[in-house]
Amino acid sequence: MSKQHYDLIAIGGGSGGLAVAEVAAQLGKKVAVIESHRLGGTCVNNGCVPKKVMWYAANLAHAVDSAGDFGITVTRGATDWQKLVAGRENYIKNINHYWDGYVEQSRIDRIDGHARFIDAHTVEVNGVHYSAQHIVIATGGQPIVPPVPGAELGITSDGFFQLTDQPKRVAVIGGGYIGVELSGVLRALGSSVTLVALEERLMARFDPMISAVLTQEMEKQGIRLHTHFQVTSLARSANGLQVHGNEGRILDGFDTVIWAVGRRPNTAGLNLEVAGVEVMANGVIPADEFENTNVAGIYAIGDITGKMALTPVAIAAGRKLARRLFNGEHQARVDYDNIPSVVFSHPPIGTIGLTETEARSRYGDQVIIYKSEYTPMRHALSQHGTTTAMKLVCVGPQEKVVGIHMIGDNVDEMLQGFAVAVKMGATKADFDNTMAIHPTSSEELVTLKNPFVEIAHTTPH
Ligand SMILES: Cc1cc2nc3c(=O)[nH]c(=O)nc-3n(C[C@H](O)[C@H](O)[C@H](O)COP(=O)(O)OP(=O)(O)OC[C@H]3O[C@@H](n4cnc5c(N)ncnc54)[C@H](O)[C@@H]3O)c2cc1C
Repeated sequence: MSKQHYDLIAIGGGSGGLAVAEVAAQLGKKVAVIESHRLGGTCVNNGCVPKKVMWYAANLAHAVDSAGDFGITVTRGATDWQKLVAGRENYIKNINHYWDGYVEQSRIDRIDGHARFIDAHTVEVNGVHYSAQHIVIATGGQPIVPPVPGAELGITSDGFFQLTDQPKRVAVIGGGYIGVELSGVLRALGSSVTLVALEERLMARFDPMISAVLTQEMEKQGIRLHTHFQVTSLARSANGLQVHGNEGRILDGFDTVIWAVGRRPNTAGLNLEVAGVEVMANGVIPADEFENTNVAGIYAIGDITGKMALTPVAIAAGRKLARRLFNGEHQARVDYDNIPSVVFSHPPIGTIGLTETEARSRYGDQVIIYKSEYTPMRHALSQHGTTTAMKLVCVGPQEKVVGIHMIGDNVDEMLQGFAVAVKMGATKADFDNTMAIHPTSSEELVTLKNPFVEIAHTTPH
């Protein structure tokens, strides 16, 4: 049993693990990444990347559907699912190859297999021991399948990305971001979709304005919604798969059921006990603001920490940690305040900062809300255009902008620049003093008027 020693070992070759390894190697350290599957992790293989390809396909389908409003005559045939999936998987393979090559060129040792701790400075992979002064746990998470009878009849988001044929009649269980994203894609590409959510409203932790517009738009697209629905079992019937719920409710006739009910951290099998690393009952490894676990020399970054489960957050945590450990940047850490995030639903959602409810509970009467709901000009010639809604949450006499919440076409691309402004502490006056770009949808954000009057436009200015 040989033993190799490193300055840093990253367990997990996903967004966080690759980032910490990359910067540590650039700083001249001897580094290894241990990965049990493909380099790139969830984002590349089962998350952001394949999801976004499907979202683009869905957007194109919507564009074809509305082309007739502009006098462009096109008819949409069936989706060539195999072609779409082949193109997507080919794209992902290229990213995997990029990472394979990059790791090799960067002189990062790649160790294939499942890592488990032997002690606080040693891990074992396939019978070989590897030790390091610093070990970073970046093992991410996996989809939850709840322990209800028949649960195995359903697939998860991982299974969705393995589908080689388009499902025709789908039940998606879960009203969070993965549930609404997959529902929107499937519906746009021609599947019949039923979305089942436990909560009273979709995207329950988001501003109610977002939930309301999303619900309205999804229903307009023909997605059947069942909220307050607790799934108690899945079963097979003569008509296909059944979803059973509370109060005897039964939904029937599906060929595919997708569980989108959350993710749990990949801590099982890491043998954390021998290293003395604290783990919460839900599998999360607590890490402080510098990503330290309770054991000196062992760190946790990314989804495993239960902080914000987003790729750029895991990457930033990895990079900052490497600079802190090896570049003398003792205070390097991620600022977890005001992290922008986008949900690739149809239409997409973009948010940063406090919701109105959060702001009111923190600042009470000092909160001033500006909002607008309108049909963007993109849909001016259509009878069926999607709604855009925006809300600015401002605080105090300076009207500092502490939250932006948007749903509508292109808000996914709009948010990044406005997030810079929020991060810099912009006020409503700063927004107002920025000249609008006309005619766009984003100009609405710099022209929001009297907070006490609800503004309802049919087209922007
Ligand atoms: C469907 C879906 C869509 C998403 N969309 C977005 C999006 O649009 N934008 C966004 O920012 N985020 C998105 N995310 C979230 C994003 O993918 C994660 O936040 C990100 O991948 C977290 O990075 P990580 O490094 O913590 O873990 P991961 O990227 O999950 O990497 C962990 C790696 O560790 C490996 N591993 C686990 N255990 C071991 C072990 N014991 N030994 C060796 N290797 C191990 C795994 O194989 C995996 O490759 C999405 C996620 C999903 C599921």
